[in-house]
Amino acid sequence: MGTIPRMLSEFELIARYFDRPQACDGVLRLGVGDDCALLSPPVGQTLAVSTDMLVEGRHFFAGADPEKLGHKALAVNLSDLAAMGARPMAFTLALALPSADEDWLAGFARGMFALADAEGIRLIGGDTTRGPLNVCITVMGSVPEAQALQRDAARAGDDLWVSGTLGDARLALEALQGKIALPSALLALAEERLHRPTPRCGLGLALRGIANAAIDVSDGLLGDLGHILFRSQLGAVIDAASLPTGPVLAQQAPQTQADYALNGGDDYELCFTAPPANRDAVLSAAASTSTTVTRIGTLIPGSGIQVLDAAGKHMSLTSRSFDHFSEGI
Ligand code: ADP
Ligand code: MG
Repeated sequence: MGTIPRMLSEFELIARYFDRPQACDGVLRLGVGDDCALLSPPVGQTLAVSTDMLVEGRHFFAGADPEKLGHKALAVNLSDLAAMGARPMAFTLALALPSADEDWLAGFARGMFALADAEGIRLIGGDTTRGPLNVCITVMGSVPEAQALQRDAARAGDDLWVSGTLGDARLALEALQGKIALPSALLALAEERLHRPTPRCGLGLALRGIANAAIDVSDGLLGDLGHILFRSQLGAVIDAASLPTGPVLAQQAPQTQADYALNGGDDYELCFTAPPANRDAVLSAAASTSTTVTRIGTLIPGSGIQVLDAAGKHMSLTSRSFDHFSEGI
């Protein structure tokens, strides 16, 4: 006679998948299991806090690989800490699940904790409820207040930099949505960028005291840079030929390359500004964290973004950065 699998209770589920033994120390005083976790940020530092939610059908396809989803849900949050120059400390996980599917939970926890362990961030609490699949993480980090890479801290004359490469994640998304065609080997490469983004935590930390302002590229370079420009009351000139296109995007037509590098989202690279006097320091920070960085332009007085082609001519491009409440892409 077969056994009928019994559904885990809420508390068994939390205990089995999310309450891992972890040492309490100077930062973490109390973790999962009480009414609140207790944290003490390092003396003299401020707490950096950010939340990002992933909704099935909106941010990921129904039936998405749970291990990749666990990675991505934490990665997109860590990326915000990186963009602030904050050191990862702790996170909470609010999870709505249609059922307590143990294979799904094991995969999700594996992906999430692999990244958490690699980046030294600890799960300290959360909430678990039945409902349409929804993953909401809040990350906490620490940063000396004067060194936070705020969006309003860019200066006219700053160099504009971006880490890694741009565009492959959006290419993968559009291929999966059937909007463009990609050969399967290239799609697999681009999908890695979409499903397993690498938060630039080390680079964000190394840029403290070197960069002025930073943002992570989640919605597209033009749109995300626009947030720095708006808050810092500046404009920018971008040299399109210098944009670091992803290896898959590099095989597309030139106009497609510029379009996706400027408007593709989901790359989770850092876009940051730094005084020209700090060029060597930026390159050292990148080298010390095994990250590539590319200088793509300059911040100027005024407003708006001018994109110049290789001949120095203005390119006419419209920002079609992602916005959940606008029509379009
Ligand atoms: P409360 O009723 O006080 O909100 P819960 O019963 O929701 O507490 O949660 C019990 C404990 O388990 C709390 O410490 C909470 O932070 C933790 N917890 C709940 N869900 C999760 C989760 N998905 N990941 C980590 N910790 C969780
Ligand atoms: Mg609760």
